[in-house]
Amino acid sequence: MSKRVDITGKTFGNVLVLEYSHTKNTHAMYKCKCKLCNAPMIVSYTNLKSGNTKSCTSCGQKTHGMSKHPLYDRWRALKERNTLSEVWKDPIRFISDVAPSFQKGYSLRRVDKNKPYSLTNSFWAQPRSNRHTSSQRIYFT
Ligand SMILES: [Zn+2]
Repeated sequence: MSKRVDITGKTFGNVLVLEYSHTKNTHAMYKCKCKLCNAPMIVSYTNLKSGNTKSCTSCGQKTHGMSKHPLYDRWRALKERNTLSEVWKDPIRFISDVAPSFQKGYSLRRVDKNKPYSLTNSFWAQPRSNRHTSSQRIYFT
């Protein structure tokens, strides 16, 4: 077993080391957090030290990552306004919940504006085709 180095609290790229997790195949594994999207992750010290892992997989992938998802900007805007339910503070969860019914031009709205955006309190509002028709709502539940 390789000697464990205490790297708790250190930052590698965009990865913040929270605590030691376990040892896997002689590699010390650490519980970490992606500073870009707050996603939890487990990374080996080897990958951190070598610079192989600089962020979570989603943020690391330039072309297919969640940060490039068309709905990621919306998620970030809602998060900055602090209007997301606990569950939806996870961008992957948010996108996997709302993306299937998303269509271009639709906007995410709340049923009750005093409550946070959540699966039960949100819907897609269809853009109005003309001023005489009310916009159609698409609910998630
Ligand atoms: Zn990330």
